[in-house]
Amino acid sequence: MPKKRKSGGRSKGSKGRDEYVACSMCGKRVPRGKAKRRTRYKTLVDYQIGRELRRQKVYVPRIPEIVYYCVNCAVHRGVVHIRSKDERKHY
Ligand SMILES: [Zn+2]
Repeated sequence: MPKKRKSGGRSKGSKGRDEYVACSMCGKRVPRGKAKRRTRYKTLVDYQIGRELRRQKVYVPRIPEIVYYCVNCAVHRGVVHIRSKDERKHY
């Protein structure tokens, strides 16, 4: 059967098994190589106050938060898009 994607939609290569991570939206267990990983930054201060502090050249720390999405949730949130056959690599 022809493959839709060369990688099977995953990034694990010839590694074999992948450990699982939980989707941060629906909680589904997804292999790490298949999940869509995004880093988003959070601040501890309120947006309005943070903007005012930054204007006065005060360093406002940002805390990175790593978020994993399963493919369903990534498509739903617009993290990735469904692409046509020509747009995606197909072998
Ligand atoms: Zn999900």
